[in-house]
Amino acid sequence: MPGMRNGSAALPHATRWFIAAVALALAGSAVPVPVVRLVGITAVPGLSATAVLLGIRWHAPPHRLPWLLLAAAEGLYAGGMCAVLTVLGTAGTARSAPVVADVLFLTGHALQVAALALLVRVRTPSRDVGAVIDATLATVGVSVLAWEFLIRPRLLSPGAALVPAGYPLIDVLLAATLGRMLFDHGARPRAFWLLLAGIAPLVASDTGYAIGVQQGNTTVVSVSGTGWMLALAVLGAAALHPSMARLDEPAPPIGTSLTVVRIALPMSLPLAAITSAVLLDEDFGVRTAPLLVVATMVLLWLLLVLRVHGMVRALRAVVEENAALHRRATDERFEQLVRNASDMITVIDADLRIRYQTPAVERVLGYTPDELTGTALLEIVHPDDHAVIAAQVLAYRAEGRVATVNCRLRRKDGGYLDAETLTAPVDTDPPRYVLTSRDVTERLRLQRQLRHQAFHDALTGLANRELFNDRVRHALARRGLADAPLAVLFLDVDDFKTVNDSLGHQVGDQFLVTVADRLRECLRPSDTAARIGGDEFAVLLEDVSGIEEASGITERILTALQRPFPVAGREVLTHASAGIATVDLDRVPRAEDLLRDAEAAMYSAKTTRRGGYAIFTPQMHHALLHKLELTGQLRAAIAGDQLRVYYQPVVALADGRIVGVEALVRWQHPTRGLVSPAEFIPLAEESGLIVGLGAFVLEQSCRDLAAWKRAGIATRVGVNLSLRQLQEDSCVAEIAAALSRTGTPPADLTLEITESFLADEGEQTIERLRELKALGVQLAIDDFGTGYSSLSRLRQFPIDALKIPKPFVDGLMHGPDHSAVARTITELAGTLGLDVVAEGIEHREQWVALRRISCGYGQGFLFARPAPAGEVAPLLEHGRLTGGSGQVRSLRERRSRPRTA
Ligand code: C2E
Ligand code: MG
Ligand code: MG
Repeated sequence: MPGMRNGSAALPHATRWFIAAVALALAGSAVPVPVVRLVGITAVPGLSATAVLLGIRWHAPPHRLPWLLLAAAEGLYAGGMCAVLTVLGTAGTARSAPVVADVLFLTGHALQVAALALLVRVRTPSRDVGAVIDATLATVGVSVLAWEFLIRPRLLSPGAALVPAGYPLIDVLLAATLGRMLFDHGARPRAFWLLLAGIAPLVASDTGYAIGVQQGNTTVVSVSGTGWMLALAVLGAAALHPSMARLDEPAPPIGTSLTVVRIALPMSLPLAAITSAVLLDEDFGVRTAPLLVVATMVLLWLLLVLRVHGMVRALRAVVEENAALHRRATDERFEQLVRNASDMITVIDADLRIRYQTPAVERVLGYTPDELTGTALLEIVHPDDHAVIAAQVLAYRAEGRVATVNCRLRRKDGGYLDAETLTAPVDTDPPRYVLTSRDVTERLRLQRQLRHQAFHDALTGLANRELFNDRVRHALARRGLADAPLAVLFLDVDDFKTVNDSLGHQVGDQFLVTVADRLRECLRPSDTAARIGGDEFAVLLEDVSGIEEASGITERILTALQRPFPVAGREVLTHASAGIATVDLDRVPRAEDLLRDAEAAMYSAKTTRRGGYAIFTPQMHHALLHKLELTGQLRAAIAGDQLRVYYQPVVALADGRIVGVEALVRWQHPTRGLVSPAEFIPLAEESGLIVGLGAFVLEQSCRDLAAWKRAGIATRVGVNLSLRQLQEDSCVAEIAAALSRTGTPPADLTLEITESFLADEGEQTIERLRELKALGVQLAIDDFGTGYSSLSRLRQFPIDALKIPKPFVDGLMHGPDHSAVARTITELAGTLGLDVVAEGIEHREQWVALRRISCGYGQGFLFARPAPAGEVAPLLEHGRLTGGSGQVRSLRERRSRPRTA
């Protein structure tokens, strides 16, 4: 804006000029030359008006009107002064001014009031009623004084001109506007204070002038005149100051800080005015009318009421605004909380339609809140759980019950997760419910897993004994209601112990898992399979039509278990034995009894036929008891000298020459007579009694060998060593001790080791064999071909002989196909440089066949049955057995024939 730029540069200059000109005019006004005085006096308002116009031009205030009015007012003052001086003469007296001058002055005053009022208005766009009331209060005070001391005396004095009474009235208005401006919050630059510094003396001068004229005091009149001119000059200076352009800047809408002074000041003004009016009325020659006092008081009271009311309202507004702010903050916090909650919060209406969904849904289910809003809640609920959710909402509607339910919610990828959902109402009109859902999939999975672990076998995943018995109990209870038939099977894997001991626990575990799988294959979904011991399994068959169907299923299972088991890179052949127990009509057993009966039946099956099954009869129960009893008796037998060692000669097949004997244990039972090892060796192995039993046989064999030697009979003895004995840490030391105790040369002893011992591929096995071999004894593998030893490793074992079991020797009688095994073993032994001993030779043809395949040695009933040391001695002495007539039968053996092999 050019004016602005010019103005800034021109200001100091202009102001200086202005001050100089005003000073010159004032000086002129004091010169007693009438023309000079006239010019001097009129020049001041004229200069001031010019200054205001220049100020408008240079500083370009946004609102020009107030300043224009001010300039006009100054112009009118100049005119008024002209009129006064023209009429009254430049000498100036206390005589009244002409009416035209009064009109010009009063109009100028009115314009000034208007100018100020306009400024106040643009400065305070927000209406501050309190400030208006305060200004009114001040005005009331000033009005009372003006009325009482200036207007009323003039009205009362007869013949006084009435127009000058307008001065105090206008001055009151001017003072009020001034007061209003003083209390606003607008900008207060230098121009503001200059403006105030101009208006205030103007009002004071007017008042002084009025009083001076009224009291005929010329000094007061002329001082007032000078003050008046100075005031006009200051107004001009205000307009020239650049900050005048900022006077009409709107004030910020801030509430007044209501200090005690700020409150008391406007109120005390009317009070002071009325008090001084009452006290000073006599000095001014008037009497204050009680009506004025009352009216002022009423007005004061009314204004006070209004002011207080305004304050209360403002206060309430502030309080409400604060409360709203607080509420908004709380709402925002709450919203933040809801939005950031890890649980999904869903608001649904009575139709189960989603109305609101928190963002957590995206993390949990994958949908965005927008995708779900407006859709039916049930669309993301698993169909099977629809009823649960609907019932939950209904339960709330009907009974006001807040409930938590579990349901499955569909994720965006189509999968489901388990959620725990709590429903509570949010609104009643229309009814809405808030569902808080959290993902509990992991928790439920853990719970299920724990429950599963508590009731299932960790290895095979089948039910455990507890769960099995529980299922049987339930089935029995159901049966009571519907008479539904049921059967319990007990299965025992016959060779598991061998597999486990020889191939290691890991392979054993793998084997059991496969057994469990085969079991599952054979069962219907309604059946329950359980693993209730190491190699013991049980099956609950529900809804079987009868014993025939139960037997059919059992046969299916046994057949499945006879298929070779591929474990650890080899094929294991095994059998299982089974027992079946059913519930008959007149007896409802306990679950545990049923299982025990099935077990008894299984034992019975085992003794009768490996890989078979038996149906429980009450007698079987006794058989089981018998077994337990027998174990007890065997323990007593070992300690009580009831064991006997029999010897079976081993011959060279080429010429029948006896090359040694095999020691075979017998149990001389006090009531049952001679008991076969086939009956009690498994019991001894199972119970661990075999260790003591084996030690006895070894010791006895060595003694008998020593006795024969003393009698001049030189021979060798083979002693069977069980797996359990070999696994004893003290095994080698004890054999060495027995040899030295009895003075037996180690070379005379052959230890017969079961093949399953070799199947364990650990270094420990070879080490144990080396230790034995280091004693100087011979090692033979008994029943070779029935275990799971690795033929490729045979070379690594420090062994001396292989023994072909009886079934393979029997095969020699049934053509070339069946004789293949015996031939292969013999050839293998030949390759490895080992001796071969064929067992169970009963027929001459077998002998012939064995000789043909170059089998070196043999034993069997054809040559001699096992017999006590005393009976074998003559045979040893004779030194040769040729079969047939050469056969020697032990008398005792013959007596107890049905029990021996
Ligand atoms: P094994 O070590 O293979 O012994 C050979 C078995 O075949 C013996 O049965 C013997 O009487 C029998 N046998 C021999 N020739 C014939 C025959 O021509 N026809 C028939 N039918 N059988 C024949 P036994 O004495 O009943 O022993 C059975 C098994 O008991 C033995 O098989 C052996 O594994 C075990 N055993 C016997 N005594 C002991 C012992 O002191 N310790 C250990 N750990 N096991 C023993
Ligand atoms: Mg043997
Ligand atoms: Mg054998």
